[in-house]
Amino acid sequence: MSNDFQKADPDELTKEEYERMKEEKLQYTLDFVYNNNPFYREMMDEEGYVPEDFKTFEDLKKLPVINSETIKNNQPPKAEKNKLYTPGTDVRRPYQTSGTSGNPKTILKSYDELENIYEEAKRGFELYDISEDDVFVNYFPFVALNPSGDYGEGLIDKLGATSVPISNTPYPPKIEYSMLKQFNPDVIMGLASHVDAKGRIFKEIGANPQELGVNVISLAGEPVTESRKKHISETFGAEVYDFLATTESGGFAYQCKENESLYHVLDNFVHVEIIGEDKERLEEGEEGHLAVTNLLNPGEESAMPLLRYDLKDIVSEYNTDIRDCGCDINSSISISSPKREAWEFIVGAVNLNAKFVEDKIYNHDDIGEVTKGYQVKLDYEEDEGDIMNVLVETNEENLLKEKAEVTEKKSPENKAEEIAQSLLEHQQLRDTVENMKSSKIKVNFVRDIEMPKGKPQRVKDLRD
Ligand SMILES: [Zn+2]
Repeated sequence: MSNDFQKADPDELTKEEYERMKEEKLQYTLDFVYNNNPFYREMMDEEGYVPEDFKTFEDLKKLPVINSETIKNNQPPKAEKNKLYTPGTDVRRPYQTSGTSGNPKTILKSYDELENIYEEAKRGFELYDISEDDVFVNYFPFVALNPSGDYGEGLIDKLGATSVPISNTPYPPKIEYSMLKQFNPDVIMGLASHVDAKGRIFKEIGANPQELGVNVISLAGEPVTESRKKHISETFGAEVYDFLATTESGGFAYQCKENESLYHVLDNFVHVEIIGEDKERLEEGEEGHLAVTNLLNPGEESAMPLLRYDLKDIVSEYNTDIRDCGCDINSSISISSPKREAWEFIVGAVNLNAKFVEDKIYNHDDIGEVTKGYQVKLDYEEDEGDIMNVLVETNEENLLKEKAEVTEKKSPENKAEEIAQSLLEHQQLRDTVENMKSSKIKVNFVRDIEMPKGKPQRVKDLRD
């Protein structure tokens, strides 16, 4: 019976069969880690558990939550041994996460795990009516040990579609545009900031990106607001969706076609929990960290199992039974668009996230059109309090002359003030700026924002 479940298309199963399949995978995964992996063997022994103690996902709560520090502490050179590695497994590829803050993490993937990542990405993409006849432009980076370009290629292979693996290689824009045109792409995938930049660069050379005839743009790798998606959508004349993907799990949650604020989790493959400050599992609707558990199919092996792994992404909604949206997918968990913890900041005692700022920039169509990037720079002046300086990167000479410094709500006189004033639509922020006078908002257009290579740094705090 169990084998039938495991071999079947998850979307063909009844609700009961789907849940049963997930539980079988959980039980197998616990059994595998206990019997094969030194880290989990030690953890479970210490906690006094054996695999038989884990029958349901509720039982999973018994295990401690781990995070990126756990990985760093169990990999060389800091640790003598990589205890998270399962001895004897065939490592298909090692990956490393971009180490913006110190040591990169090494993630090892077995043959089975990568096949699952590719297969499930195919399932996620099928939500958007993508098929083997489509031509993909893969803008995900093929850089060093970054997996995103490779995960994208694996997905395209599983679909049996065509890939134009152009990556983020900087060709002269005219050559790149004519290359793309020649292949008639149907789908573009990549980081939001890369795809957005491509659209702008193509327009700068006088091309109309809509003429590429792209139908769907799929984004991952960084949080992206609906207003920025709308801007990219208008540039290319394509539908834009995003999905959540990590080096550790691959793509595991896909934006609902009908409800833009919901993401369907492929929870037969990656189980998710929303956990609170003291690591307990939260009730539905509460905001907390997203923790993932990679599930194995019976008989498979994991090179580096991750159970209850805290991604440090913040999710504010959690719905266990959304089936009326019309998406043709079996998924028992839906989550809201995550905010990244590294994008959070406090100004004048108000908690904000860079996504909020991004939304305000791209809500102004004419500004979004010429914006290359942005950064929130935080500083403190004794006589002014917290200063939130929004840098907007552009080549527009007219805008480069503008700047805004806002201390109260009033009608804007230029584009910089328009952005600054729209930030004051946040009531608490307005209060701290206008009434408490404890902080100030500045907006500056600049030609270049200095950022570390790899992931865009949206928040730079100079106050420490
Ligand atoms: Zn849906």
